[in-house]
Amino acid sequence: MRRGRILAVASAVALLVGCGAGDERHTAHASARAVPILVYHHLGDPPQGERNPSLWVTPRRFAQQLDALRRAGFRAVTLAKVWAAWHGGGTLPSKPIVLTFDDGYAPQDTIARPALARRGWPGVLNLQLGRVGVAGGLSRAAVRRMVAAGWEVDDHTITHPDLTKVSPAVLRAEVAGSRATLKREYGIDTRFFCYPFGRVDARVRAAVRDAGFVAATTIVRGLATPGDDPLELPRIIAGRATTPAELVRRATDG
Ligand SMILES: [Zn+2]
Repeated sequence: MRRGRILAVASAVALLVGCGAGDERHTAHASARAVPILVYHHLGDPPQGERNPSLWVTPRRFAQQLDALRRAGFRAVTLAKVWAAWHGGGTLPSKPIVLTFDDGYAPQDTIARPALARRGWPGVLNLQLGRVGVAGGLSRAAVRRMVAAGWEVDDHTITHPDLTKVSPAVLRAEVAGSRATLKREYGIDTRFFCYPFGRVDARVRAAVRDAGFVAATTIVRGLATPGDDPLELPRIIAGRATTPAELVRRATDG
């Protein structure tokens, strides 16, 4: 019910707002499409004493999830592609899905990158810059490999703080500063942000918008639609215990 209502609202908004020049019918059609944005963190077995083992997905389970999504007709795309299609710039597959990988852990390069490449799918890396080069994190070379493989790299701050609790100077450094660093050091000019811990308030939103981001993802559960607030796009967490069938169901229904 909820999804149907949101889709109806999104269609109406798309028709009312339009997208400037262009085929209004096409725009309305593309804009009406809800897109699941999945969240992955660790790939592998959780270490002993890990506080949050549910965020560790084994490579086998990961492969099963990807295969189930593919069998159900889903095709992975980047957030940039979704954003463009929502705004009249290009089309999407009939069942698009975005696979995001948060923080920047080494297995996202060694396990997720090749697993997605085998299926011809891009991933989206929400990179915490301060994790690059540290134990368990991605190396710079790994980030470049992922970009070369078609991955989108989006901004996930430098030190991963709860942005609702930091000073104005730190907020600027973690949002605008990280965007500038991504551009300067990696040549990546992203317009998409991911809130650490999904934590956001009016002040954080303003900082994200002012830094030039057009959209940002949270950990609120649901399908993302063009009718959503673009600075608070929902996602769907794919965890250790998420069976392939359950993940397909969530990707379909939110
Ligand atoms: Zn994170």
